[in-house]
Amino acid sequence: MYLKMAKRVLFETDKRLVWKLAYNFGFKGALSVHKHKKRLKRGEFFPPFLYISVINSCNLRCQGCWVDVAAKQEKIDVEAMSRLIKEAKEMGNSFFGILGGEPFMHPQLLEILERHPDCYFQIFTNGQFITDEIAKKLRKLGNATPLISVEGNEIISNQRRGRNDVYEKTMQGIQNCLDNKLLTGVCTSLCKSNIDDLLTEEWVDKLIDMGVMYTWYHIYRVAGPEPNPELALSPEEQLRARKFVVEMRAKKPIGVIDAYFDHNGTALCPAATGLSHHINPWGDIEPCPVIQFATDSIHDESKTLKEKFVQSEFLKDFREVVQQNTRGCIILERPDLLENLVKKHGAKDSTARKQAMQELQNLETRTSQYSPGNEVPEKSFVYRIAKKFFFNDFGVYQGADHSQTAAPGILANKTSAPVNSSDDPPHFIPLEAMKK
Ligand code: SF4
Repeated sequence: MYLKMAKRVLFETDKRLVWKLAYNFGFKGALSVHKHKKRLKRGEFFPPFLYISVINSCNLRCQGCWVDVAAKQEKIDVEAMSRLIKEAKEMGNSFFGILGGEPFMHPQLLEILERHPDCYFQIFTNGQFITDEIAKKLRKLGNATPLISVEGNEIISNQRRGRNDVYEKTMQGIQNCLDNKLLTGVCTSLCKSNIDDLLTEEWVDKLIDMGVMYTWYHIYRVAGPEPNPELALSPEEQLRARKFVVEMRAKKPIGVIDAYFDHNGTALCPAATGLSHHINPWGDIEPCPVIQFATDSIHDESKTLKEKFVQSEFLKDFREVVQQNTRGCIILERPDLLENLVKKHGAKDSTARKQAMQELQNLETRTSQYSPGNEVPEKSFVYRIAKKFFFNDFGVYQGADHSQTAAPGILANKTSAPVNSSDDPPHFIPLEAMKK
């Protein structure tokens, strides 16, 4: 399997692009995580991976999306991006996730990539603007991988993303990337309506046959202005997704990404571990893309980017509150704690719609990736080793007891009392027992 994967990478993509990935993301990315670990030991903080939403506009209207895609267009211009990337590079960063809206609607996107040949960019896109010409330009630049989202089969994709020809156009975008030998990924936000079609070996085989090099399964988060709780996965389905990912990693010649588990299968939140934070199209620095509150902005010229991260009491408190209360996703499990945090720091609503607090208050406690007693360790030794060194909790949860504060315990206890109640404290029980 590893040999097949190596052959695919060598023969199905442009070798120059493989080299750029290996050096700018692999080698330099590993160094940036190493620097992050050293900073944590000194009690200092700067996230090694920044995710930047460069524009809010999008041509699609996906169910459950939290971005203000229909609001007046806002984007981070090429100069602001260059300043941001330059300051992050000074801290040892070399990898940047680019999100939107739809990033390819940003008129200067390629110029941004071009200005930083020593960095690597992963572009989260619906793929519909990637024409043959754009794919050729991306190949020439060599420092970006498109990660194209497919949200279901033709019917489900069109339904989830609000238009009739979505699936066809997205598949054409993927094909344009593959025809130009780009290192191309496909991601899916798993939910009730696509799990049976896309969390399957047939789908993974289809991606391999097409020439796709990696896939990324997210779990749909119930959040934003129009949350769809009926699309949310049950704890059993989330466990099924984890088992599938571990299985495919050990079996198929394709990279499979998920961002919620360490090498032992113990859950974590990448924002709580300090691995990443997010910058929105208005320049606000948010804990992560779905938590739309901020106290700092990249456009504030009175401080350096380093000072903004090192001195941010809001982000520090955010990480500590998550670390103390759950290894899962705070917005799903404990929206009440987020609400307290936002109020305590006077963090501003960083959306255009200005209803984020009300949305937070409407959320209910639900489970996330954290499912104590149901850990699924990595079977593939490559992922085991990589995660052991570069993707784990870096000790940030050490000493915390989540048994009375995280959703699995609270929900297992079926308490109708407030989530902080100390009467009849909730306890963790494995998923199997929860079903009884
Ligand atoms: S808070 Fe939830 S959505 Fe945000 S990074 Fe953590 S796990 Fe992901």
